[in-house]
Amino acid sequence: MAEVNKTTGTQDRLMARARAIIPGGVSSPVRAFGSVGGTPVFVARAEGPRVFDVDGVDYVDLVCSWGPALLGHAHPQVVGAVQAAAARGLSFGAPTSAEVDLATLIRDRVPAAERVRFVSTGTEATMTAIRLARGATGRDLIIKFAGLYHGHSDALLAAAGSGLATAGLPGSAGVTAATAAETIVLPYNDVTALEGAFALQGERIAAVITEAVPANMGVVPPAAGFNEAIRRVTAQYGALMIFDEVMTGFRVGPAGWWGVEAGVENPTYTPDIFTFGKVVGGGMPLAALGGRADVMELLAPVGPVYQAGTLSGNPLATAAGMATLNLADDAVYAHVDRRSAELQSAVDEALTAAGVPHVVQNAGNLFSVFFRDEPVLDYDDARDQDTAAFARFFHSMLDQRVALPPSAFEAWFLSAAHDDGAMSRIIGALPAAARAAARA
Ligand code: PMP
Repeated sequence: MAEVNKTTGTQDRLMARARAIIPGGVSSPVRAFGSVGGTPVFVARAEGPRVFDVDGVDYVDLVCSWGPALLGHAHPQVVGAVQAAAARGLSFGAPTSAEVDLATLIRDRVPAAERVRFVSTGTEATMTAIRLARGATGRDLIIKFAGLYHGHSDALLAAAGSGLATAGLPGSAGVTAATAAETIVLPYNDVTALEGAFALQGERIAAVITEAVPANMGVVPPAAGFNEAIRRVTAQYGALMIFDEVMTGFRVGPAGWWGVEAGVENPTYTPDIFTFGKVVGGGMPLAALGGRADVMELLAPVGPVYQAGTLSGNPLATAAGMATLNLADDAVYAHVDRRSAELQSAVDEALTAAGVPHVVQNAGNLFSVFFRDEPVLDYDDARDQDTAAFARFFHSMLDQRVALPPSAFEAWFLSAAHDDGAMSRIIGALPAAARAAARA
């Protein structure tokens, strides 16, 4: 077994080369280990619950590509479907039957997605959803909640979670004041603030966008009735409800968080527009928006709201998505739910034994660990945690060949491939990591 590579220098040399050509050495900020310190693991390949670094060292992976790898890495049937599609051509710029099949599969699971349009990233899905809501209502303003992340389009970067939370940034440079002024940011889980914003300028608000379950400031479950309240208030003022299920969609259950919380048969609430990504593309660049037919039919070429993409609905991506959703049956969700519950209690036990203040929060199988005593209800709470303790915990886990998301503000991801062997490595590593977290 090769040694964990902190000292071999291969990754350090790679990172030095990377930094000289790619800003920060990475194609997406959180990968740079900025808040936990140290050199990122350069991944050479992945299989099932494991990733392998460039020296051949394997790590049990709790990142799962930040969500997509519901079945684990390189599932043979998913890879086979992509290989078969690749042999037929990489991209056509023309409609394909696979898009129709995948859209149908999405609607079978989430009937409220009456029409579906494919894009390549979650960012495009939410950006398009906002444009669609503005086109549908003729209004300019949107509401988002602090600490929630919906990708990196200008309108949605204010007080955003994910990498901005990790770096402690309030927003991004390069967003015009005019754009920022069109986004109203409210505290999460606060119905009074929501009602107040609508009472003030409800006639100007096109949409409220929310994560089905916020998971980009750590996992903060919606308070009972909060999503219903968003539906009620938006409907009252003629604004649209955009339900961002990029993270939760097809991961927390067959019909995403909407299926878990509202129920598919007689839903307690139904958003106007859903956004999907991650699992729906099975690890390939694919995302989608779906929703009410009359709203979705405002998209070009039927309606006046423009959206397009050279690689939208790409045949390799749709093949990966189809194979993934076809394999993601009830047994897969039951397995991920069980593993998640097991890991949540093991983390809780280890941190309690070491006397480390912590709270484990979950919504279905999606969970994260905050290094503080009190429950986290919103972004202010989430930021008030001991990120240095997390960094010590993270590095101890990494030394024991368990790869956690390198940020205290991210969910931990499990997959159907996390078997007994993978779980026992993770659980076996927890006591030492908890002791490391305790050593200030
Ligand atoms: N919405 C949510 C809820 C997300 O978690 C993310 C990505 N983590 C996005 C949107 C953006 O997706 P992408 O990174 O594919 O642009």
